[in-house]
Amino acid sequence: MDRIFIDRLQVFGRHGVLKEENTLGQMFFISAEIFAELRTAGKNDDISQTVDYGHCCNIIKDICEKKTYKLIETLAENIAEALLKYSDMINSVKIRVDKPSAPIGLPLESVGIEIERRRHTAYIALGSNMGDKNAYIRRATELVDGDDMCRVTRVSGLINTRPVSDIPQDDFLNGCMEIKTLYSPEELLARLNEIEKELGRTRDVHWGPRTVDMDIIFYDDMIIQTEKLTVPHILMHERAFVLEPLCEIAPYKIHPVFGKTVIGLLSELKGENKNGI
Ligand code: AMP
Repeated sequence: MDRIFIDRLQVFGRHGVLKEENTLGQMFFISAEIFAELRTAGKNDDISQTVDYGHCCNIIKDICEKKTYKLIETLAENIAEALLKYSDMINSVKIRVDKPSAPIGLPLESVGIEIERRRHTAYIALGSNMGDKNAYIRRATELVDGDDMCRVTRVSGLINTRPVSDIPQDDFLNGCMEIKTLYSPEELLARLNEIEKELGRTRDVHWGPRTVDMDIIFYDDMIIQTEKLTVPHILMHERAFVLEPLCEIAPYKIHPVFGKTVIGLLSELKGENKNGI
């Protein structure tokens, strides 16, 4: 992947766990590797098609100078996040923070850290079966897109489906969206739950009616099983109301556990192709 690099930008900061570091301050050197596709800009000689490294340097300088962190880990994390938020063209960043005057009392050239952060692709299933279902789903999509850690990149059409639960309730409207996100899977789940709550979702009846429900179907190709989160979603391959809209936006995405495409899982569920694709 092409990259832009910033080598040892010298900045002044008051970061450190010691009080003197927060009052006196010291020099830091920040290096960044910014991974982006540069061919289009190169072919067209057009600055609007690349990432402005001058602006990136100013973002780094502002973060270093305007806030004080105890840890250079936090400093690096904030720089990485700010650069990824600055331009959608940036796929990933590598940030190195050097602290050559760290108060260690031993002769050394520098200490520091290096981190790598990137945008992730997640697929979210949406459902609603209360009130103005269309408006709830649209609003949920807007709230996800409006979060500066997320960008909605594709949305499916919406389909009407019968509820799978035995609890008497209205039909569902279901859809799927693809997002690019800087959240970790756990952070993304927490943010989606917050949005559900904001839109009046209550959790009094399990499998009961809901204004809006959002489930993480895929997060990159990760396989996750924690107390709170199972990804890929544990029931997605059994649910036509997930697979159908998902198939519209990501038919050839491969389920990392089953090794089958979404379109294959859907036709298998419909009994069209027992082996999947
Ligand atoms: P639901 O009724 O579908 O909103 O279920 C939400 C519960 O499922 C929450 O307690 C989540 O912690 C849990 N959960 C497990 N895996 C997932 C997932 N992939 N997406 C959303 N919720 C999940």
